[in-house]
Formats: sequence, structure tokens, C-alpha cells
Amino acid sequence: MPSITIIGAGPGGHIAAFEAARRGADVTLIEKEHVGGTCLNSGCIPTKTIKASADALENAHRLAEFGITQTEGDEARFRADMAAVVARKERVRQVLCGGLEKTCKSLNVRLLRGAAELGPDKTVIVRNEDGVEEIKSDSIILATGSCTVDLPSLPIDHEYIINSDDALNLDHVPESMVIVGGGVIGCELAFIYRAFGSAVTVVQGMDRLLPLPSVDVEMSRLLQREAKKRRIKLELGKTVKSAEVRDGKVVCELGPSPFLEGATGPDSTVVTDMVLVAVGRKPNNDGLKLAEAGVEVDGRGWIKADAGMRTSVEGIYAIGDALGPARVMLAHVASAEGLCAVANCFGENRELDYNVIPAGIFTSPEIGTVGLSEEEAVKQGFEVRSQIFQFRELGKAQAQAELPGMFKLICEKTSGRILGVHIAGAHATDLIAEAALAMEKGLTAADLAHTIHAHPTLAEGLYEVSEGWLRAS
Ligand code: FAD
Repeated sequence: MPSITIIGAGPGGHIAAFEAARRGADVTLIEKEHVGGTCLNSGCIPTKTIKASADALENAHRLAEFGITQTEGDEARFRADMAAVVARKERVRQVLCGGLEKTCKSLNVRLLRGAAELGPDKTVIVRNEDGVEEIKSDSIILATGSCTVDLPSLPIDHEYIINSDDALNLDHVPESMVIVGGGVIGCELAFIYRAFGSAVTVVQGMDRLLPLPSVDVEMSRLLQREAKKRRIKLELGKTVKSAEVRDGKVVCELGPSPFLEGATGPDSTVVTDMVLVAVGRKPNNDGLKLAEAGVEVDGRGWIKADAGMRTSVEGIYAIGDALGPARVMLAHVASAEGLCAVANCFGENRELDYNVIPAGIFTSPEIGTVGLSEEEAVKQGFEVRSQIFQFRELGKAQAQAELPGMFKLICEKTSGRILGVHIAGAHATDLIAEAALAMEKGLTAADLAHTIHAHPTLAEGLYEVSEGWLRAS
């Protein structure tokens, strides 16, 4: 049976380790910080745990809307107790990390703590407080992930100018916050901190929130409307040119974005309590000695790999965030890439198909996407027709007072084959799963419309939008 050494125990590395062990390989999983990687410790799970507190607070403020009032005394006043919010997040993190460690034990995965580097001839050198260990194996999987980016103009001091890691451990809610970056992380944190009561301004260099090819422009427009309703200030097409801490405040100079063609307008000054920088991620390659081992990287340091996760060195594979934004930087994609790499370590010849990747964005409302946006579908030469159905037309949305949102279905005009589905609204990140299955199986709008959906559910929106698509053709 092959021996496999995996560097990094995030969702890419630990899923690869478990799969390799279940197939009978001799597996060593090396982690220099926390098992679970970014996802469990400073990404998916901490943000969603804190979002659950933000949602609870928003719902508490809406109790009267549902006919719930206090029996006596003044109207209840609710606020976020950040020490308790962060403590809850820690408990969730520890439960999940502990679960992974137990699975390592039960599957006989050797979990080795320490910082790994590549040595000659498929050796991995691990340094930790016990000394130095050298491991030789048949295959190596690099699952080293990514970390926060610092901008020279916005030096992180972890107090006034913070990154997303800091934002998940704040001991108070700042009265005001400027978030630099209106991508997924910036938007999620904007809605969370607004719900906690902060006056939030989002500065985004492009002309829309979530300016990703995979996110349909209608979803961005809807989110922008919802942001405005919540009084989140949007500075689109702008950049923060400088930020200076003066007398306990941060003075930010805003100007037209250099990333948006034709962006104009006067410079302005915003004075805030805190600046959160959420402008992207960089590779976690420090000390890995990739170049010495002959593993090729691109101009920004992201590891180059083919669709079977093979790097430029035979027997060395790379998966997950370490491959950078040219692939898809999501936890479940890292895991899928891990399974693909393990299959190939066992001599299979598997490649990952990136066409059907569902994604969840945990704003308020949530956004779920799979497949192409309308713009991307047209760019790729498809003749498309799209259909929209509003959340407010669903009985369940009315019953639950979850009115903002829409379902958008993008299909090939003649065949009706589904090319993309984009949902904004309550539980959109769960609802997208049905669309992902439909796309994976190559289904059409008619297939979706001819599937009976339970009533009253939000999933009926998928039935309605596909039925609408059929009626309009
Ligand atoms: P990572 O999770 O980054 O893990 C890499 C691991 O390798 C780390 O633990 C690191 O310590 C270790 N390591 C690195 N170098 C070495 C070395 N030399 N020796 C030993 N160990 C090493 N994705 C989603 O799908 N859904 C979400 O809702 C979501 N929300 C997010 C929110 C935030 C704020 C952030 C920052 C990210 C979010 N992501 C989300 C992205 C997701 O966290 C990543 O895509 C995912 O964690 C990538 O997994 P990975 O295994 O490739 O790397």
C-alpha cells in the first residue's frame, strides 16, 4: 500500500488524509497551527457561528413583527455581548477540531504537529519542539492553503486596522467600521457587524458588490438594495488611498478606484473607529522550499497543478487554496481536489470537473450560486434565456416574513439545459443544493418543473422559476 504525506490539515488536507487511510494507505498529516485549517479556525465555521449570533439579534429586534411582545415592563433591548459571542464561536471551533483529531486516531492517520518543508527525493522535513523529523513517502500532497493579505497603504495593527482573522475575535462592537473590499468576506462581515450595531461603510474598487464572474449581477443589485435598507454605506468604484490613526480614530482618504476604468469623483475623508481590510488572500508557502524541490508556482506564488492536481514534480500533488484564485478557493472544492489527488496517488487517472461548483455567500439575505452567471454564459457563446421568480410570491416566505430575494434560472434557449442557478434569499445557501444536483445530472428546466416540490417550502421557488421558464418558451 502506498505511503502518503499530506502537508496542511485544512478541509483539503484532512479529507485527503481520511480518504487515503480508508483506502489503506500509510498516512502522515502534518499541521503547523490548528487542525481544520482556515475553514474551521478563521474562515467558514467561525464566520457562520458569529453570523448565527448576528441573525439571532436581528430576529430579536423583529419579535413584535411576529406578534411576540413582552408580558410586562419596558420593551426588551438586545445587544451583542462580544465576549459571549466569541466564546460561543470558540466552543464550536473546539468541538469540530476535536472531532477531526478523533477521526485521525480512529483511521490511524498519524497527525504530526510542526512546520513542514520539502526536501530532496520526496522527503518532507518537519520541525517542531521535539526536534526535526524526516519523512519519505511515495506521494506528497501540498494542502497548505492561504492567509490574509496586507496592503502597504493599510498596515494591519490588529487594533485600529484589522484583518478578517481579527474581525472574528473582537472584544467589542466598534461604533463605526470601514470595510475595504466588497467581495465575499467583506460583504459577510459587513452584514454581521451592521447587525451588531456598527455603522458600516464598504469601500469596493469595482462598480458592484461581489464582483465575481460566478455571481450574477442581479444578485449584486439585490444585495446592494438590502445593504442600503440596513444603512450600510456603499462606496463603489472607490479605493482607500491611505489610513492614518489619529487620536483613537482612523482617518481614511478615499479616491476613485484605479481598478475601474473611468472611475472619477472627488477625494473624500471618512473618520472611523476601525478599518477592516478584506482584499483577498495570499499563498501560505513561507518556508515550504517549493522552488528548491522544483515545484512550479505562478507569478503570485500560487502552486501550479493540472486538473488531476499533479504539480511539476512527479508524485507531488497540490490541492485547495494553495492553487489560488485561478481555481475556486472554497472549502468543499479543496476537499474534492483532495479526493481527486488521493485517487491519483493510487494510480487512477482522475480529473476534477469545475463546471458544477455550488457556492454559498452568508450575507443577509444569503446568496447561493451554481454554474454560470447570465453574463458568463453569453460570453461563452451560449444562446441563453433566463427567468426570475421573487421570494415574496412564495407562501412560506410570507409566513416566515422572509420577503427579499429571488430565484434566477439561466438555461440554454433551445434545449432548456440548465447553465446556472442563482438564488438570493433566506436559506439560499441550502436551496442551491437541488440546483447543483440538477446541473450535475445535466437536467433541463422541464425536469425541474416536472419534479413535485413540497408545499409550503422555499424550495418551491425552484419549481416556480422553472415552470415560469417553460411557460415563457
Ligand atoms: P486551509 O484551510 O488554509 O488549510 C491549510 C493548512 O495548512 C493550515 O492549517 C496551515 O496551518 C497548514 N500549513 C500551511 N503551511 C504548512 C507547513 N509548511 N507545515 C505544516 N502545516 C502547514 N469557504 C467555503 O467554502 N465556505 C465559506 O463559507 C467560507 N467562508 C470563509 C470565510 C473567511 C473569513 C475565510 C478567510 C475563508 C472562507 N472560506 C469559505 C474559504 C475556506 O476557508 C478555504 O477555501 C479553505 O479553508 C481552503 O482549504 P485548504 O485545505 O486548501 O487550506
